[in-house]
Amino acid sequence: MAIRKLSALHRSTFLDELAQEEQDLLVVGGGITGAGIALDAASRGLKVGLVEKHDFAWGTSSRSTKLIHGGLRYLKQFEIALVREVGMERAVVHKNARHIVIPEKMLLPIVEGGSLGQTMSSIGLYVYDLLAGVESDERRKMMSKEETMDVEPMVRKDILKGGGLYYEYRTDDARLTIENMKSAVQHGAKCVNYAEVVDYVYENGKVVAAKVQDHLADRVVIVRAKKIINAAGPWVDTLREKDTDGIQRKRLHLTKGVHLVFPYEKLPIRQAVYFDVPEDGRMIFAIPRDGITYAGTTDTTYKGKIGRPRTLQADVDYVLQAVNNMFPEVNLQTEDVVSTWAGLRPLIHEDGKSPSELSRKDEIFEASSGLLSIAGGKLTGYRKMAERIVDLVVTQLKSEDNAYRNIKPCQTKTMRLSGGDFDSQEAVEDFITKRAGEAKQIHVEGAYIRQLVHKYGTNTDKIIEKAYELYQEIPDADARIHMAELWYSVHHEMSMNLCDYLIRRTGRLYFERQTLGDLYPNLAKAMAKLLGWNESKMLRELAKFKEEYEEVVNFEVKAGITA
Ligand SMILES: Cc1cc2nc3c(=O)[nH]c(=O)nc-3n(C[C@H](O)[C@H](O)[C@H](O)COP(=O)(O)OP(=O)(O)OC[C@H]3O[C@@H](n4cnc5c(N)ncnc54)[C@H](O)[C@@H]3O)c2cc1C
Repeated sequence: MAIRKLSALHRSTFLDELAQEEQDLLVVGGGITGAGIALDAASRGLKVGLVEKHDFAWGTSSRSTKLIHGGLRYLKQFEIALVREVGMERAVVHKNARHIVIPEKMLLPIVEGGSLGQTMSSIGLYVYDLLAGVESDERRKMMSKEETMDVEPMVRKDILKGGGLYYEYRTDDARLTIENMKSAVQHGAKCVNYAEVVDYVYENGKVVAAKVQDHLADRVVIVRAKKIINAAGPWVDTLREKDTDGIQRKRLHLTKGVHLVFPYEKLPIRQAVYFDVPEDGRMIFAIPRDGITYAGTTDTTYKGKIGRPRTLQADVDYVLQAVNNMFPEVNLQTEDVVSTWAGLRPLIHEDGKSPSELSRKDEIFEASSGLLSIAGGKLTGYRKMAERIVDLVVTQLKSEDNAYRNIKPCQTKTMRLSGGDFDSQEAVEDFITKRAGEAKQIHVEGAYIRQLVHKYGTNTDKIIEKAYELYQEIPDADARIHMAELWYSVHHEMSMNLCDYLIRRTGRLYFERQTLGDLYPNLAKAMAKLLGWNESKMLRELAKFKEEYEEVVNFEVKAGITA
């Protein structure tokens, strides 16, 4: 029977199967773009494989601002179609994954010398809501200076003229990617992490297969597929270079963005704020969540090593200065930063444009070998990007082979993602209340259940069930629920190591770093048990995580790294 679970224990079988049977579509890259494509194609009935060279969401899709947003600032650049599309997509993504795409009120302070005056802010936010078809009770509200100070007492008062309140959505980018990946697997896709495309195979000038290096076993497998999509984010051009066509016409322009995390007490804002950086006229976010506040982002052309974008002291200084300017009472210093992340935007190059001026539009490149590549775009628009490129694949398949004539149109607009089976935000709250009540029997705190539901949605039930099962074996309640969560991550989300679990499945390295020091050695032991590691493998995995643990707060300007 076909495996429909993204389990670490099935990873190797998935790869064996990909090697044995030609796929309709092979997707290269397991970020949000690849995951969205795999789900779209598999749910139309295509036979789909996906390979990711590191972990799912290891690239940009775990390093964004974590907002599902229309991109207010693109209005200033008159990117009306883009704002309209991503604006409308916000509601779609929210409805399909209410547990991880949560409405977030955003404050836009209007200040003297700011990039938008009072009238322009009001018109801009009005148009923004209109383009996105925002429901009346969620439309923007313009406020006086006093009202703005009531909403957010920390904002700088001497230059404040007023403010606008409007709706965006907050998410967890890596979890959105994983929920798409799990849903794709439920529809029959075979998705494998730690499997890298190292070369292509051609017949009659057309690409017909990819050579895939299995990084967890010493083997290369050949995966044959009728169509191959390169969805490798910042590595799109690296993979185009390997193709016979090379890089024709357009190429990528990578820009780096950095976020800083502070303990909530250090930046105790009541709500998310989108504000001006006086130095260069850009805007950045400060977003409170779960005991921390994070701020960012920078936007600088990046020419360093793609796999290792780092937070440099200059990035830290830029964000600190902007935050201290808007919230003068906080006076944040480098020592206050408890974690950071740095990501690369895979944008399309345009001559003469600065990083912030580059369009966030996505584009498809079609090589004469048949290789399809997709780049640009945003997390928010991933579903539409997937729809566009899978439409193209289906059109090609239909014209080449009559057997594809009955392939369905795109199914994802109203498809709930794994864990997202809720009809409303109230239903999410009811679910939390109910499960928190039940979990008292096994001494799990309500706050922990809330965190679980905002990660796993309805799949939280599988974790609670496992915790019941472990009741005798693990007497300590905290250790038991942690173990159940880890078990879920291995058996249902293909976590292969500590970094997968603590960075991309749970976000703990970024948001709970201060509590991890005591926790991760025990988690390594538990993971060793689940995955059958010996002592030396466990020590290696511990060392890898320790490196990441230290790097997120190590901002030295390292020789050879430019940003
Ligand atoms: C700082 C920052 C903030 C952002 N904030 C937002 C935001 O708030 N909202 C929003 O909508 N968008 C945001 N974005 C944009 C958004 O994050 C990206 O558009 C999106 O994550 C790109 O996803 P992707 O799947 O195309 O690329 P990636 O996530 O990078 O995925 C590509 C994957 O391909 C894999 N890969 C590469 N080569 C190979 C190979 N040879 N074989 C197999 N796999 C390979 C990589 O390991 C990687 O995991 C932000 C971006 C940045 C950098």
